[in-house]
Amino acid sequence: MEDFYTIQGEGSYQGEAAYFIRLGGCDVGCVWCDVKESWDASLHPQVSIDAIARQAKKSGSSIVVVTGGEPVMHDLTRLTAALKKSGLRTHIETSGAYPLTGKWDWVCLSPKKFKAPHPSVYKKADELKIIIFNKDDFKWAERFAKLVTRSCELFLQPEWSKEKEMLPQIIDYVKAHPSWKISLQIHKYMNIP
Ligand code: SF4
Repeated sequence: MEDFYTIQGEGSYQGEAAYFIRLGGCDVGCVWCDVKESWDASLHPQVSIDAIARQAKKSGSSIVVVTGGEPVMHDLTRLTAALKKSGLRTHIETSGAYPLTGKWDWVCLSPKKFKAPHPSVYKKADELKIIIFNKDDFKWAERFAKLVTRSCELFLQPEWSKEKEMLPQIIDYVKAHPSWKISLQIHKYMNIP
């Protein structure tokens, strides 16, 4: 769908320069999705893996984040092989709706209520990022915290349109449950993609 060099705004690598590859196609259907134009993959051009890897390498970034859409709808074996051959770190952001393919240096799992993650993804997550839309989501977050590994980093992130309402509750929650950290979409504050 698009690729661009920017600053990772969320989670463990927040604030670091990263090259983003956004793949078209998503059947998860989050009501608050901010990239609904990604859902229909057929609306976006097909680009060769070599061209994507070349552009990523040219950016100067050492980190490539593959996102979507829902990137795990695609077989990512050849894409990650090409990125790794170019000496790049491979990161993915996924709802985990399907089994993971490809070789990843960092897996950010962000489960969505609209389509449950595939159970094979939990133990592969380096980072669990739960979007907090309402107060029931704290309980929902704890369900997933029990399914990932002990070393997996835990983040609560307010849904952007609910930030004013939910952030104070997230702050209180993290103070009471310090295994969690707060993730904010800092790229939106900086007005960058
Ligand atoms: S998984 Fe991501 S791209 Fe798909 S609907 Fe949800 S927020 Fe949008």
